[in-house]
Amino acid sequence: MKKHNFSAGPCILPDEVLKESASSIINFNNLDLSLIEISHRSKPFIEVIDEAKSLVRKILNVPKNYSILFLQGGASLEFLMVPMNLMDINGTAVYTNTGTWANKAIIEAKKLGNVNIIANSSDKNYSYIPKDFIIPEDANYFHCTSNNTIYGTQIKKFPKCKIPMVCDMSSDIFSRKIDINKFDLIYAGAQKNMGPAGTTLVIVKDEILGKNNRDIPTMLDYRTHINKESMFNTPPVFAIYVSMLTLRWLDKLGGIDTIEKRNIEKAKILYKEIDRNELFVGTAEIEDRSNMNICFLLKENKLEKKFNKMCDEKGISGIIGHRSVGGYRASIYNAMPIESVKELINLMKKLEDENIS
Ligand SMILES: *Cc1c(COP(=O)(O)O)cnc(C)c1O
Repeated sequence: MKKHNFSAGPCILPDEVLKESASSIINFNNLDLSLIEISHRSKPFIEVIDEAKSLVRKILNVPKNYSILFLQGGASLEFLMVPMNLMDINGTAVYTNTGTWANKAIIEAKKLGNVNIIANSSDKNYSYIPKDFIIPEDANYFHCTSNNTIYGTQIKKFPKCKIPMVCDMSSDIFSRKIDINKFDLIYAGAQKNMGPAGTTLVIVKDEILGKNNRDIPTMLDYRTHINKESMFNTPPVFAIYVSMLTLRWLDKLGGIDTIEKRNIEKAKILYKEIDRNELFVGTAEIEDRSNMNICFLLKENKLEKKFNKMCDEKGISGIIGHRSVGGYRASIYNAMPIESVKELINLMKKLEDENIS
């Protein structure tokens, strides 16, 4: 029996995508060659990357004046590439510190210039999204993290911003409607809602590039990858291919409208159970709760072993919380069926039935 995969990342992908990827590793497009042994410059692969780009453009409604890139180095390299491309020497960038990943982005930006942290939720272990802040207009750019994967918080309303707005959307891209026009640069490691690890999606408004006074190393310069259509060097062919299949799946399903409704429904029923069940408590501020990563605790530690064993027996996998929060984290990304969420809810009810008289 296939497990219910609640892993935070790499994470669940649609079954049909896994099957097609597996067969393409052996024989791609009836070429009698493997996908991973053909040239990335061959027509069959160019078709793959072109389709991946056009699906991103279609599904997210990306305007023409933005480029779509498939890079390497994960979201973690974007932490550095963003300031390298957008921050002046001795310049200042504005950041919000809303969790572990935001903090890592800040550490890299500080290596290249001044960082002004205008909002910080570390005072309450990142359990909320700070809202009342004003973004200074004399900085090079503003950076935020749309969904804090580890702490289970999510920005529901993005701030108004007059300087370029950069967003790390690694863990909620393609999960909900967003207005691309509000952003100047979006990046996301593929392995949370788009595909396997190995490629990073970057969506960048062309006009913001080439404006700082740095001599940017070739591989770290977004313009290199725009000019070479993500083929400056050998791209991660497998990761791009599987991402393309996942986007095809999403498009066929009905795109963002359909998936957003499903994601809201899944999160709603699970949060409802967390709030109803006497044994559990959610860790994130209610209005900031993520619809992707749902963090909760058992009020009594002594039941943990029992609950973990029940989960194991039912094939519920990957729900142990990150060590900095503890408890549980159910990641319910796009490919997670509602049936798996219901299975988890049933176990929470069962634990309550057996332990509260
Ligand atoms: C996982 C994650 C990252 C790190 O991604 P890598 O691709 O492993 O570098 C960055 N930001 C967020 C929000 C994440 O969830």
